[in-house]
Amino acid sequence: MPKLPGEASHLILRVAIAVPLYRLFDYLAPNEVDANDLAPGIRLEVPFGTGKKIAYLIETSQHSEISLDKLKPIERILDDKPLLSAKDIRLLHWASRYYHHPLGEVFSAAFPASLRKGKTSSLQLPSLAYALTDAGMATPAEQLKRSPKQQQALAHFQRHHPASLSEPELAQWDENWRSAIKALLAKGLLKQIASENLSVSQHTVENALATKLSTNETTFDDTNNLQLNTEQQKAITAVVNSLGKFAVFLLEGVTGSGKTEVYMQIIRSVLERGQQVLVLVPEINLTPQLEERFRQRFSVALALSHSNLTDKQRHSAWLNMQQGISAILLGTRSALFTPLKKPGLIILDEEHDASFKQQEGFRFSARDVAIMRGKLLNIPVLLGSATPSLESLHNANQQRYQHLILSQRAGNALKPRLHLLDIRNKKLQHGLSEALINELRSVLANGEQVLIFLNRRGFAPTLICHGCGWVARCRHCDANMVIHNYENLLRCHHCGREQRLIPNCPACKTGELMALGLGTERVEEALRELFPDKALVRLDRDTTQRKGSLERYLTQINNGEADIILGTQMLAKGHHFPNVTLVAIVDVDSGLFSIDYHATERLAQMITQVSGRAGRAEKPGKVILQTRHPDHTLLNTLIREGYSHFAQIALAERKEAALPPFSYHALLRAQAGNPNLPLAFLQAAATLAKTYKASQTQILGPVPAPMEKRAGLYRYQLLFQSDKRSDLQLCLTELITNIDSITHAKKIRWSLDVDPVDLF
Ligand code: ADP
Ligand code: ZN
Ligand code: ZN
Repeated sequence: MPKLPGEASHLILRVAIAVPLYRLFDYLAPNEVDANDLAPGIRLEVPFGTGKKIAYLIETSQHSEISLDKLKPIERILDDKPLLSAKDIRLLHWASRYYHHPLGEVFSAAFPASLRKGKTSSLQLPSLAYALTDAGMATPAEQLKRSPKQQQALAHFQRHHPASLSEPELAQWDENWRSAIKALLAKGLLKQIASENLSVSQHTVENALATKLSTNETTFDDTNNLQLNTEQQKAITAVVNSLGKFAVFLLEGVTGSGKTEVYMQIIRSVLERGQQVLVLVPEINLTPQLEERFRQRFSVALALSHSNLTDKQRHSAWLNMQQGISAILLGTRSALFTPLKKPGLIILDEEHDASFKQQEGFRFSARDVAIMRGKLLNIPVLLGSATPSLESLHNANQQRYQHLILSQRAGNALKPRLHLLDIRNKKLQHGLSEALINELRSVLANGEQVLIFLNRRGFAPTLICHGCGWVARCRHCDANMVIHNYENLLRCHHCGREQRLIPNCPACKTGELMALGLGTERVEEALRELFPDKALVRLDRDTTQRKGSLERYLTQINNGEADIILGTQMLAKGHHFPNVTLVAIVDVDSGLFSIDYHATERLAQMITQVSGRAGRAEKPGKVILQTRHPDHTLLNTLIREGYSHFAQIALAERKEAALPPFSYHALLRAQAGNPNLPLAFLQAAATLAKTYKASQTQILGPVPAPMEKRAGLYRYQLLFQSDKRSDLQLCLTELITNIDSITHAKKIRWSLDVDPVDLF
């Protein structure tokens, strides 16, 4: 635009900042910069309040609604070029609109902490690398068991293919790698290698491919000689034929049906095209197994991103993908936005898992955003699960996703058999019936492993007085305190409050206090008494808090050093226990009657997932479910006809009740220390929303949250339901635009959850 004489020549920078405000901020550009050098997406540092903040450039403009003399200049420009592609920036804009979340916070979610804090985006190039010597290859890692770190390092090299690792890769593996590597060098087990001898993983994806081809290796896949079954082959062909364009696939296959094998064969094709793969898993705990399988199979650089890594490790993983140095990224939900220089494929394993949904702040579904990302990047998205979500099955039924099914267990493995065990009027020993105990006894006598599942940690969920009926409640929550016997305390599982386990009833002073209900600690005690000479491993959040403890337990289990494996939902997630031949689900009933319509889907997924741990390989598995509702329709459908059949019936029920995925939900939640404020806020929001012409959006509530008081805050919610997503979105957009006009909006905490996965 031509400048008028006398008009100040000021370029306005409109930026997004990670603050919970639905607006952008205007700043002045430094005089010397040219608008053409400032591409949307670059990071800037700007003065904000009394300090400074990192900002993301959204657009430049000649005009501001704020008068020029009130605008502040930016402090500095951090990037020459945006670190995100134009398409990924479009994705963030879309996500901000779809989830009605402030753009600055959405941008911030796409960057690792280091870059959010303004760290530079230059990546130090690897200078040194290490490789196994002949002695290093020949020495069993166990020989170093007196220095566990060295043992781990040696094993890591031996597993790695090819057996050389650069310093940044070692730093990815473990922050404190240096001393162990030094020791191994001194022992002659490792040697330092010059940079021209670096493994292919030191090069970019394309170079890696070129190196491979020039050495006459035509494939990345050096170890594979499996005979794929027809269904696997069909699934691989379908996805491989879609590389280079957008399509969504739902790969449904029972545990052990060879899904991971299918992923790896498809990944190979993507790598051969010189492209990268983003693999998302729901839990950090699932990355080590997959990491190991990928490393054995592929010789390209693998990056990891999850919350157990340091900021530095995540920083380099992010940049390695962004610059095309790593070919595969394995990560959890937060890795979804990692930029890909050569995007080829997105895989979401265990797509049904609720942890793909972020439950605080920017409440996004990694699955749904991944699909939008695939669409924008024009690449396929592969969703895999043994127990697909009802949403994804619905999309498959509607032909929006291509449904790929693996119905057989790979190899010769047999499917487990499920049995309902009626425990009505049966004598129970800490929750275990006589019939179950006998089954356990005979399996253990055969030297086989049993797995016992109970989805509640602690000793017992309730402490009650036998004299007067007093119950230990949390002062800050609508919840009972859970007894933790080992630590000798009562703990609230909702706010974390703790107190010493009391010897006497505080109400009547004389009554005897009793533990009511079951937790894993209690079942552990019972099992140790029943089977004193058997080794037991308990896996729950309490026993696996220390870093590395879960891995240690899993190794013990796989080495056959555990006879009894007891645990919570941690057991339902992906870990393979090939020697388990009996699975017992102690209590299915607690999942049968919930006010949240998602509960039956979750229960069916959990039962199926836990069952899938039994009887891989050649040993058939047996699954016993203790219940007081042996005639329950859901349980019977699931057990007789399997998860797919259950899911179709559950979908029919959702349709009948006009619940998602046959309608669309959003939940406006509000909380405050004073119950009147959030209630008044939601009432005002409901009134406001009803004035908009989104005729098909129903507004239900406000009602108290299922747990009305939590951590000292009173919680209420307002449900928006519509048959048309566009209607719902219009209504929410209007509401959010005007929400600050509600009197109490600033005194309470509120949040909007689009497509909520639970109603709590
Ligand atoms: P999932 O991911 O569905 O649980 P995996 O891919 O881990 O299944 O496969 C389970 C086991 O079966 C693995 O040990 C895998 O190597 C093996 N496997 C996979 N496909 C085949 C096949 N076509 N033939 C023989 N074994 C297979
Ligand atoms: Zn009492
Ligand atoms: Zn509490």
